[in-house]
Amino acid sequence: MTIAARPLDPDAIIGILGGGQLGRMLALSAASLGLKCHVLCPEPLSCAFDVVRRVTEADYVDKSALDRFADDVDVVTYEFENVPAETATFLAARKPVLPDPQVLATTQDRLVEKSWITSLGIATAPFAPVGSLKELAPALAAIGRPAVLKTRRFGYDGKGQATIRTGDDAEAAWQEIGAQPAILEAFIPFEREISVVVARSIDGETLCFDVAENEHRDHILKVSRVPAAVPAALADEARGIATRIAEAFDYVGVLAVEMFVVADGAAPAVMVNEIAPRVHNSGHWTLDGCSVSQFEQHIRAVAGWPLATPVRRGRAEMVNLIGAEVEAVDKWLTVPGASVHLYGKPAVRDGRKMGHVTQVFEE
Ligand code: AMP
Repeated sequence: MTIAARPLDPDAIIGILGGGQLGRMLALSAASLGLKCHVLCPEPLSCAFDVVRRVTEADYVDKSALDRFADDVDVVTYEFENVPAETATFLAARKPVLPDPQVLATTQDRLVEKSWITSLGIATAPFAPVGSLKELAPALAAIGRPAVLKTRRFGYDGKGQATIRTGDDAEAAWQEIGAQPAILEAFIPFEREISVVVARSIDGETLCFDVAENEHRDHILKVSRVPAAVPAALADEARGIATRIAEAFDYVGVLAVEMFVVADGAAPAVMVNEIAPRVHNSGHWTLDGCSVSQFEQHIRAVAGWPLATPVRRGRAEMVNLIGAEVEAVDKWLTVPGASVHLYGKPAVRDGRKMGHVTQVFEE
């Protein structure tokens, strides 16, 4: 059973599953609109706990904690896509869950996600399922080398991925990803990586932010620049793809679509790499570089409020502070025009996103 959502009153409570920086920034935006948040997360020192009305420190499958959480909130949303299906189903029987948990079933599995995107007539890298080591050789024969072997589930920031080049031992790649159900993708020699953050309201209105161009280091997003240096027609195509995906999901909230730009003969074209059914790191620039942030837009959508039309304030550049880089934050604190965001995470770890800095320049 799914419970229908209706517009929230200004003092309503939004339940957020997940307590990381995305939940924290969602809660801060909710507070700006007078809405309260209740975050449920199993990790005791979750950085979203610091900025909300109420917290529940409990496992995602703790039914009695979920029951109390559901009683307290008016609507439930999430800040990460690996919410267990049973959690979403349990909560959806009690309160509206937005975006609809069915979206999770598609986006939690790379094979299901890519098959679904292809069924919409949208291009992805050529791919083949690899359910066992035995299936890897025929998949490689079909896809060719180089190829990227990815776990079907729980991959992020390049984790659970191995590239197989000419001469590489395919079995070693299979072991490297943990010998689990996988997808083999053709390696795309992309010209650049871009993403589109799109919001869709309960009434079905969709609005995209400007296209971001993303630079990764060690598979982790390092810099997003907006607008992406792509022809206007390609930017329109990218926004059109994100909009079609949001509509096909009957989505409510913010979602991000990561894409590769490939130089296809004379005209560059886009291929979808991944959908994130949530606010996204490549949309952080909107906090300082746009009249409405992706976080506020998501809150407006799940609250059943109208979306705001985003107006970009200039050319934006967002840099992530990853791991120990945060220890050099002093150098950013005095840069004129730089907006520093620190997530208040208790411990620095390699690869951990600790904060970000956005600069907005006149165009
Ligand atoms: P993902 O976890 O699928 O988002 O992949 C993380 C990063 O790995 C992407 O942002 C790309 O830089 C790279 N990557 C993933 N898939 C491919 C591919 N099929 N071809 C080339 N690079 C890829």
